[in-house]
Amino acid sequence: MTDKTAATVNYLLDNAPQAIKQRGRGLVANFLRYHNNRWVYDVGGYIVRIKVPKISVITQRQLTDRQLDRLKKIKNRDLMVSCPCKFWRWNGPDFNADQDGYSERSFSNLSEPVERDPQHENLICKHVYAALKQFSEDYPRIE
Ligand SMILES: [Zn+2]
Repeated sequence: MTDKTAATVNYLLDNAPQAIKQRGRGLVANFLRYHNNRWVYDVGGYIVRIKVPKISVITQRQLTDRQLDRLKKIKNRDLMVSCPCKFWRWNGPDFNADQDGYSERSFSNLSEPVERDPQHENLICKHVYAALKQFSEDYPRIE
């Protein structure tokens, strides 16, 4: 696939900075609701939205059964995510998500956080880390 603007669950979880992972492990993500390909979690009072686009009919036709089975595993699936916290807004994630195509929605003016995230390492915040962890446990496969 040539879709360069996307990120998988595993990519975001694996590449989150250590400090984010540690803080995220201490948080509980509570599932709130599902609507229109969006799963919504409450993490410490912040509403984390996870959007998983459906696999298009065209894509399904192009893939072998094995490829399609792999794609249905949530860890391999492209998704979009957002969090309304200040860290997400100003410390990199909002900007990085927009640049890399995994932004569910933007909360900032998308100016580059030159000082707070000069290396573009802050892919996600601790709330999104906790939500994605819980999400991948709750929904290991999505059709
Ligand atoms: Zn957050």
